[in-house]
Amino acid sequence: MPELPEVETVVRGLRAALPGRIITGLHFGNTDFIADLPRLEAALPGASIEEVCRFGKFIGLRLAAPHGANGNRPASWLLVHLGMTGQFVVCRADSPVRPHTHVWLALDDARELRYTDIRRFGKMRLMDAAELPSFLARLGSEPLEVSFEAFCSALSRRAMIKALLLDQHVFRGLGNIYTDESLWRARIHPRRLGARLKPSERRALYAALRRVLADAIRLRGSSISDFVDSAGSPGDYQRRHRAYGREGEPCYRCGTKIRRIIVAGRSSYFCPRCQPAPKGRSQRAVRRQSR
Ligand SMILES: [Zn+2]
Repeated sequence: MPELPEVETVVRGLRAALPGRIITGLHFGNTDFIADLPRLEAALPGASIEEVCRFGKFIGLRLAAPHGANGNRPASWLLVHLGMTGQFVVCRADSPVRPHTHVWLALDDARELRYTDIRRFGKMRLMDAAELPSFLARLGSEPLEVSFEAFCSALSRRAMIKALLLDQHVFRGLGNIYTDESLWRARIHPRRLGARLKPSERRALYAALRRVLADAIRLRGSSISDFVDSAGSPGDYQRRHRAYGREGEPCYRCGTKIRRIIVAGRSSYFCPRCQPAPKGRSQRAVRRQSR
């Protein structure tokens, strides 16, 4: 599933290709992942793409409507979430269409912006610019922008650290890969309670998270299965994974075998030696479940 670095990689590619372009036509395949299709069909033709932004795992295209009779150009946002397998690619209009392509936006430069999604867990919707602030207010903080103080207060809860990091109302954009990678680097067990982390551990986690996200953006994301950037190329960060997907393989620090357990309903990979389990009941649960 694309997380913050993958979505940022797509956004950077789209930002190099789209601003200033006009949408000249639309074509849809399956549309069950699109909210209010008639609204898209009415608003997109003739609209110009002014800006490309990332909001957590959402891609936002700011659109200006064509000049109306009264001359005003009300702005709107096309928001796209890639779900599990979504791909948002700019290509020449005559390039072959990949299977599971569901949206074609024709552009005024003989190219197309295409949305492809095998599993269709993605989402697409249009909203007025005035609606955006309330939409963003429901998302958590941007992990690369949050201050250390705000980071600490967001984590000061009696919930497992992994669950807190994954909660999109706490931080926007984090998923399984980058939480596991950050927790491994900070030497924190995924079942530790956020409120019980020592100040030094909070500092280590804050630094690890920023480092992991920045490195992953630099390497243009992780391609585990389907991820490609806006030009259709895979990322490279999967070669740097230290915990995620490495069950049974030796820890890069101490050689102990990486284990996988379920935390917050998701697989969590960690080193049982570098990331000691919390004391008490949860520790026994870890032993039971991690075999
Ligand atoms: Zn280790």
